[in-house]
Amino acid sequence: MKIEEARKFHKIDAVVVGAGLAGLRAALEIAKNGSEVAVLSKVYPTRSHSGAAQGGIAASLANVTEDSEELHMFDTIKGSDYLGDQDVIEFFVEEAKKTVYEFEHMGVPFSRTEDGRINQRAFGGHSALRACFSADITGHVLLHTLYEQCLKHNVYFFNEFQVFSLLIEDDISRGVVAWDIRNGGLHIFHSKAVLLASGGYGRAFKITSNAFANTGDSLALILENNLPLEDMEFVQFHPTGLYKHGILLSEAARGEGAHLTNSKGERFMEKYAPEKMELAPRDVISRAEQTEINEGRGVDGKDAVHLDMRPIGAKRIMDRLPQVWELAYNYLEIDGRKAPVPIQPTAHYSMGGIPANIKTEVIKDAAGTPVVGLYAAGETSCLSLHGANRLGTNSLQGAATFGRVAGASMSAFVKANRREKMVEQPLNAAQAKIDAFMSGAGNEKHSTIREELQENMTNHAGVFRNKKGLQELQKTIEELQERFKKVTISDKGDAFNLDLIEAFEVGSMLVFSEVMAAGALAREESRGAHYRTDFPKRDDKKWLKHTLAWRTGKGVKLDFSKEVVIYMDRFPPLERKY
Ligand SMILES: Cc1cc2nc3c(=O)[nH]c(=O)nc-3n(C[C@H](O)[C@H](O)[C@H](O)COP(=O)(O)OP(=O)(O)OC[C@H]3O[C@@H](n4cnc5c(N)ncnc54)[C@H](O)[C@@H]3O)c2cc1C
Repeated sequence: MKIEEARKFHKIDAVVVGAGLAGLRAALEIAKNGSEVAVLSKVYPTRSHSGAAQGGIAASLANVTEDSEELHMFDTIKGSDYLGDQDVIEFFVEEAKKTVYEFEHMGVPFSRTEDGRINQRAFGGHSALRACFSADITGHVLLHTLYEQCLKHNVYFFNEFQVFSLLIEDDISRGVVAWDIRNGGLHIFHSKAVLLASGGYGRAFKITSNAFANTGDSLALILENNLPLEDMEFVQFHPTGLYKHGILLSEAARGEGAHLTNSKGERFMEKYAPEKMELAPRDVISRAEQTEINEGRGVDGKDAVHLDMRPIGAKRIMDRLPQVWELAYNYLEIDGRKAPVPIQPTAHYSMGGIPANIKTEVIKDAAGTPVVGLYAAGETSCLSLHGANRLGTNSLQGAATFGRVAGASMSAFVKANRREKMVEQPLNAAQAKIDAFMSGAGNEKHSTIREELQENMTNHAGVFRNKKGLQELQKTIEELQERFKKVTISDKGDAFNLDLIEAFEVGSMLVFSEVMAAGALAREESRGAHYRTDFPKRDDKKWLKHTLAWRTGKGVKLDFSKEVVIYMDRFPPLERKY
């Protein structure tokens, strides 16, 4: 790697934005294939949100119950409410086993069965015991192991570097510009290939399980470059967020046998999903909870219902779910072995994102035309593996598997191609953003605008949506965007200027939230996680298609001509019942 001009101009084969499971798995592949790769991450790599994943990683190993790739494929398609692209899902279930064994060989300490095989637990929407796990710290062990492997294979790390702009010209990616959080100052990374692996963006909501870093910066950068986002209206609300905090209590708790109860002590899932009960998919359970709450059966008159872990038994709680127990104890002072824990739906996973094909190449239209040298993987991407609703444990798997795919695609690309010339004045776009915050004359605070956005997103684009609420939301976002132009930051320094970072992040959230609201308003049906009270039925005739959305000077432009890939002879759309 060539580093010029006082370490601020870097030339390298490949740049990976994000050090979660997707980014690290890609970087490892590129490095193993003999190319140079730099990983840029705004948080220290092992603090990426992948490390917070508790429950498990899916693969049809059939170590505990009978299972098959076909069944994994069917469950995923059904879970997606038939919006998932079946070619992607087919490839995914085939690669999933390989991904788990690779992790095992890297040294991941999976929990074991009595006879020494990788143990597997139940998870919502999966019809076999399919979630490979390590107690309830699965993401933590996967992330740490991958990070160690990356260090071993000489991946370059730029920790606490936040990407502020993408360098794209003539639909060819030429690198990125990033802000050095620790020391201040912009760095140019001139590369042949760029991977966007910047994770989820649940922070646009008030109640969320997502980390503070999950602000969807890349999505805003894509829109800024006149490229589209896909299926942004589909946001998954996880049924068991710790009351008021939104912090996730893993689905593993229900996988191990916890009950959900209302103020009358009833296991209310009997009414909504009599077969799968607490192990129905997340969208179904979140709606059931919200209905219980809205109809006055919330516990203690609150916006909450109960997660009762007592049926699991005290010893098994501490063996299998130590973190879940600890979270409830630390935040609410409730001992889950002795009492039920209040919970509520929490914004958790974003199915939409940066459109990419099965090779992870970012595409710019419904015909699938790639943007040369630009790739996306992990939660920030939309492949579309999860369709309208993701099944638990499929996303660690998706991030790792398509991280590897991205790495392979990128190494082939960097070997076959020369570096493009740098754009003229690469720093301009990023510098303009910084100048606007530093020298603005207005008196708006980014934190106030963020809070108002989050409140409104949860109220109007949450578990239940309708036309009136979404229109109100659009108006609010427009007003907030206007006010955002008057944001000034008080910290004018270089080192750890969190004021600057947060202002940039709020700006990103305002931009992609606008696209989310537009998609949710346009899609007049209910499918997967997107539920319209004014259009409560799925409508395959009109809406069995993907949404592409661009931001233009005149609002959001939507295009519904991207078809869903369906194998009609194998998995024709059926009504989704549990
Ligand atoms: C609490 C919780 C529990 C979960 N449990 C499970 C589970 O049990 N099983 C499962 O399958 N899934 C689970 N998920 C979902 C799953 O963890 C995520 O979808 C997945 O880990 C995302 O990986 P990623 O690599 O795409 O992104 P992340 O791990 O979120 O990493 C994103 C990276 O991008 C970087 N970044 C972002 N913006 C920028 C920028 N502008 N510049 C530089 N760097 C940037 C960040 O620093 C970070 O390194 C869970 C999610 C949560 C929130």
